Amino acid sequence: MISEKMKPYVRNNSAIRMMFEEGNRLKAIHGAENVFDFSLGNPSVPAPECVKEAILDIVNHEDPLVVHGYMSNAGFEDVRAAIASSLNRRFGTAFSAKNLIMTVGAASGLNIILKTIVNPGEEVIVFAPYFLEYGSYVRNYDGILVEITPNTETFQPNLREFEEKISPKTRAVIVNTPHNPTGVIYSEETIKEIAAILQKKQKEYGSVIYLISDEPYRELAYDGAEVPYLTKYYPNTVVGYSYSKSLSLPGERIGYVVIPDEADGSKEMIEAATIANRISGAVNAPSLIQRVIARCVDAACDVEAYDKNRQALYNGLTELGFECVKPQGAFYLFVKSPVPDEKAFCEAGKKYNILMVPGSSFACPGYVRLAYCVSYDTIIHSLPQFAKLAEEYRG
Ligand code: PLP
Repeated sequence: MISEKMKPYVRNNSAIRMMFEEGNRLKAIHGAENVFDFSLGNPSVPAPECVKEAILDIVNHEDPLVVHGYMSNAGFEDVRAAIASSLNRRFGTAFSAKNLIMTVGAASGLNIILKTIVNPGEEVIVFAPYFLEYGSYVRNYDGILVEITPNTETFQPNLREFEEKISPKTRAVIVNTPHNPTGVIYSEETIKEIAAILQKKQKEYGSVIYLISDEPYRELAYDGAEVPYLTKYYPNTVVGYSYSKSLSLPGERIGYVVIPDEADGSKEMIEAATIANRISGAVNAPSLIQRVIARCVDAACDVEAYDKNRQALYNGLTELGFECVKPQGAFYLFVKSPVPDEKAFCEAGKKYNILMVPGSSFACPGYVRLAYCVSYDTIIHSLPQFAKLAEEYRG
């Protein structure tokens, strides 16, 4: 018999499973090359060569007792030091190994941050549309998720409503830029405004409000767009990073959390987050891939391949009359459904073997998400199918 807390997750899981099974069903009938599966954010670009070289060299030449052994719950110190130096070089920060905790991807990083700071009944603000797992993560610690309605003109955060919804119970705000599912990047101006609002509200309520920067897409930015480093704008910022997308390593489950010295109660937070890493059951991030990261700290996957996909899909769909904010980063397109019921639109897409995720899966109905981390051929071959789909909605 399962717990009451798990029951809604099991109920909702069937929707995701159904989409996965639908993809497999269509592939079995039509052949994988004739199914245009834009549903998953699974990288299509391989990890850079340095990852393979590092794995082989570490396995062949480093001490296996160290490579495969237990370590500090925060991760290998030399690995954390290498990442801290890279961040300092790139963003002008002043982190050291002690400010970083290696985590089992961003998912685990967010969980240990929330476990460290959220008391039952405290609120965590998110901007819709958002990665729906945030709700599960916040509920893991009996926190309350507070949603800000989307600004569908630009998909930049709705700051007036944000300010109104901050309460004495607000403990944290999660931002994700570059953004899943819209691909927008929050401008420096926006970040400064968010920081000013948080400073004002902290003063007003005499509280501490943390800004959690969820950054799996930091390296995926196009047209030279800058992705501001948030700890420089607001001292109570905590960063959750992941190599799932930047190095195409989602199955390896590797990322880190940064807790800067400037954050309120930083020393105690670092200690608590390290313990949270242990008692969440992760104990420490996987060791071999940690050692790989230290050697590939400044590497990135082939971002140009995603950019090529972005241009082809955005241009192709807008020429067909679909509406969409041009993404500046990540690898998603958030397209306006031609009818208010976007689930019906997703169903219609299946007739043409196109798989899309309804916007309601990101708390933003009326839109669909297309993950363009697929092959370029998939995009090119999908366009005539999208043309047939568009035809259904003309007039
Ligand atoms: N946050 C966002 C916005 C994501 O899109 C994802 C994964 O797609 C995650 C967090 C989790 O990433 P990870 O694979 O590092 O756990």
